[in-house]
Amino acid sequence: MEVFRRFFERIVEECVEAGTVWGEELFFDATKVEANASMESRIPRFAAQTHLGGLFENEGISETAGEDDAPGPSAGADLGILPTAEDRGLRAKNAERGDWISKNGKPDRAIVRHGYRRRSDYEVSLTDPDAALMQHKRGASRLGYHAHYVVDGGKARVILSVLVTPADVMENQPMLDLLWRTTFRWRTRTRRVTGDATYGTKENIAAVEKVSIRAYLSMTDFEKKSPYYGPSRFVYDPERDLYRCPQEEPLRLYTHSYTERVTKYRAKPESCNACALKPECTPGESGRVVRRSFDEEFLERVRAYRETEPYRKALRKRKVWVEPLFGEAKEWHGMRRFRLRTLRGVNIEALMIAAGQNIKRLLTFRGRGPRHLAQVAALRPPAPTHSLVIGHLLRNHRVGDPEHPSRVFQHADPFPDVG
Ligand code: SF4
Repeated sequence: MEVFRRFFERIVEECVEAGTVWGEELFFDATKVEANASMESRIPRFAAQTHLGGLFENEGISETAGEDDAPGPSAGADLGILPTAEDRGLRAKNAERGDWISKNGKPDRAIVRHGYRRRSDYEVSLTDPDAALMQHKRGASRLGYHAHYVVDGGKARVILSVLVTPADVMENQPMLDLLWRTTFRWRTRTRRVTGDATYGTKENIAAVEKVSIRAYLSMTDFEKKSPYYGPSRFVYDPERDLYRCPQEEPLRLYTHSYTERVTKYRAKPESCNACALKPECTPGESGRVVRRSFDEEFLERVRAYRETEPYRKALRKRKVWVEPLFGEAKEWHGMRRFRLRTLRGVNIEALMIAAGQNIKRLLTFRGRGPRHLAQVAALRPPAPTHSLVIGHLLRNHRVGDPEHPSRVFQHADPFPDVG
């Protein structure tokens, strides 16, 4: 796996060297790819785990990819030396932290988000145990994966990072790991990231904005989904730390929820119960509650971007930036359905496809042929092998020798008279 990732990164390095990577703007998107697995091969997950538990009773089963070849931190390490990519101890530590890339996109199925469990938490395919159920375009369910691309905003549209996760891992989950990896690995001076509403979670927006990168991420408008007044109808007073409702009633601080990372503000129940606007405002009898995120400052900043032209332009660009790359990968490079199985296999396949797409861009960027040293180097034919050299010498020798013409059956002259 490491070899294939290094190969992909070597190609990106060539692109960086050739000046085809801009880095200021990054686009995030993901596409569904069918797995090489049959729907009939699914069995309950607990049955598979019991079976495997019996087989490897004394050996233990490694849950984390790459764990086997990653020994613990080396004893006596020199603290004065900065860690490098070759530092196996550091890699093992990062893997423990649950970084999506070091785990090859493997989700921790023991974690339950918002009390919701997916069907793939209960079922597993025997042909491809990492594939998850996904909705096919024509309505039927299939086993598949999500291929995530991080694409540079420069004209060459170089793919900077690739990751494949099971189809039930939402786009927003590995986004931050992919962003940090991309910016640190390629030392880009990223100023804005663009993605659709699936990326625009509070956690992602806050994390991106905190490091002074503009989060051009669409946000789901939950206000439209509720029949009652949304938070935008309430005005926050930062000096007094309270909200004012449309009737100018104050909603004072009520409680903090550290698990949800929100502060709740509540109006007096007697004010609400006597209010003429109550049917449109709240169904309860204990006073209207408004929730304010701990990261509201960043969310408000991103809401304000919506009115700006650069934000609209970035979202327009997003529609034509990554989608054609997925189309190309599916149409020309076989990414409609993975041939390999398990997360390790499909990540290798996606890395090779993306590397191929980058090579094409490296060679044909702007259609003017090679303009930079790295492009020239990439276009240079491989060094001749021993057999090629011998063949070339032999051919030259025969061309110059009338006794041994190289193309005897296409010889234009009449055959010599031997009689
Ligand atoms: S129901 Fe309560 S919070 Fe809503 S407008 Fe009336 S007084 Fe204000």
